[in-house]
Amino acid sequence: MAKRILILGGTTESRQLAAALAARPGFKVVLSLAGRTTSPVAQGVPVRSGGFGGAQGLARHLRDKEIDLLIDATHPYAARISANAAEAARLAGVPILALRRPGWEQMAGDRWTLVKDAQAAAEALGAEPRHVFLSLGRQEVSAFEAAPQHRYLIRSVDPVEPPLAVPHAEYILARGPFREADERELLKAHGVDAIVSKDSGGAATYGKIAAARALGIEAVMIRRPVLPEVPSASTVEDVVAMAAHLPGPVAERGV
Ligand code: NAP
Repeated sequence: MAKRILILGGTTESRQLAAALAARPGFKVVLSLAGRTTSPVAQGVPVRSGGFGGAQGLARHLRDKEIDLLIDATHPYAARISANAAEAARLAGVPILALRRPGWEQMAGDRWTLVKDAQAAAEALGAEPRHVFLSLGRQEVSAFEAAPQHRYLIRSVDPVEPPLAVPHAEYILARGPFREADERELLKAHGVDAIVSKDSGGAATYGKIAAARALGIEAVMIRRPVLPEVPSASTVEDVVAMAAHLPGPVAERGV
């Protein structure tokens, strides 16, 4: 009997993980998306979309769908769903693994200012007007309405609706990956003197960090949230290997 795996996704790696597991015999994979992006990229495996209704709802889903393994492959800043996943796995008695992308390392030449959240990032920009590049989720950019003295260049996958209530904001719609050379051109063309970023890790969005370093621009970096401690690995290959070594389906274990 195939092992039923539910992957909580929304990242490039979750898609890669789903494809890698689905390609192996003995695994039946479903990928779960929050349903925020209006036109998500094709995932290549069966997808379900939308919230579960908290940890209890996810635990119910795990039982109803007879899931044998839950894998949290969500974004490192998606702290609520990661907490729910750990709790739901405990409630439902289902094993859990996490694919955790490591953060970026600060290098010589980087001018990082570490802050705890988007509100603190808006404050850290200071009182003097600056040209700021925001590459954050739609939810976080509203915090910058508290600092209307700056000019903002805002890049997102979906439009920021409603637009920011600040006098100077320009919007770019784009989906990564972004190359360093292109990021450098973008920052130069708009006269950007500060970027605000999450410490997302991975290569797809590192271009702006490298570009900021090359141009001597400050990067206000929002620290990672604390995530629950569950068995985890940092690469798709390692999570696949861990999944392969777990006991068989619930039905076969007689749980
Ligand atoms: P979040 O704050 O941790 O989660 C909020 C709620 O959204 C959860 O409680 C859950 O609703 C639902 N949810 C989140 N991820 C889900 C998933 N994969 N499948 C089903 N429901 C999900 O999450 P977020 O930061 O808004 O991120 C939402 C999605 O975007 C995640 O899939 C994440 O991987 C992806 N993403 C996030 C970021 C980021 O910076 N936060 C960046 C890139 C991609 P219920 O409680 O109702 O179950």
